[in-house]
Amino acid sequence: MKAIPRTVLTGASALLFLTQPAWAVNASPTTNPIFVDGERVDLQSYTIDGYTYYKIRDLAEVLDFEVGYDDASQSIRLWNTPQNAAPAPDDPESSVTGTGSEEHSAPTSPDAPDAPIKRDVVDGKLVVLLDAGHGGSDGGTHNISETLFERDFNMAVAQKAKALLEAQGAQVLMLRGPEETERILESERIARIDRFVREYPVDLLLSIHHNATETHKATGSEILVQIAYEHGGAGQELARCIEAEYRALGRPIRPTKYQHSAENPERDRLYLLREAYERGLLAVMSEYCFLDVDSELQLVLTDEGQAREAEALAAAVMQYYTNHPY
Ligand SMILES: [Zn+2]
Repeated sequence: MKAIPRTVLTGASALLFLTQPAWAVNASPTTNPIFVDGERVDLQSYTIDGYTYYKIRDLAEVLDFEVGYDDASQSIRLWNTPQNAAPAPDDPESSVTGTGSEEHSAPTSPDAPDAPIKRDVVDGKLVVLLDAGHGGSDGGTHNISETLFERDFNMAVAQKAKALLEAQGAQVLMLRGPEETERILESERIARIDRFVREYPVDLLLSIHHNATETHKATGSEILVQIAYEHGGAGQELARCIEAEYRALGRPIRPTKYQHSAENPERDRLYLLREAYERGLLAVMSEYCFLDVDSELQLVLTDEGQAREAEALAAAVMQYYTNHPY
């Protein structure tokens, strides 16, 4: 889900602009036809100084967002419908600032009715950034004898998931390439996220990991979600989709994790989730199984096992975006 389209913000500034004294403005009606998702719509528009201006309420109608005016603060409020619940008029977080982070400030209630979006396949505009966790000398977790490392399972599953998502029409970017043998520092991973977010309309960062504990006794699959979704909304809904797919494979599901930073509980503990959030990007992390428990390790030792995990992830992403905007 992206911020309200830029054209709409142009409309907002136009509205503000036109409330100024109009003596210096030379406006003429625009005659170009306008199409929304391929359908022609009739909107009154004007050309002023070479730019085209629309009434914000007209745009709201055809692009499905809401416009309100808050008397107390004399401010104009825009919000997306219906994925993002209508904001309370006195909620300063709800005003659109163009940061693209409104999906975090107004998460959908888990009980809210689903959006009437229902596609069979995505249309090629869904952009998924896959992160195969760790890499190079950073092997991540490992089996008991330290011969098999998480980084390799992460990559194998990520590549399979990439192929599956691409076959469904998504564009898939990889945060770590399969040929890379060097360890990727945290700062480099963040720089790559930054670059991808600037260069592509990335909808989701899906980070693929495999688990282990000190006691070597834990089992099950675990999804880690940005704390912004702790009480509902996109991250939580996507986690449910992944958990449902894993459950269908017979996996026990551990509680969804929302980890707060110790220094600042308002921020995510994991840098990947935090840095994505700060760039307005939805991110979840999957820990499919525990490599340090033999029965769990068996699940990903074979190509078929890895394929099952990748299929579950791809199916969950498709399921989620079949019902949600991107
Ligand atoms: Zn890991």
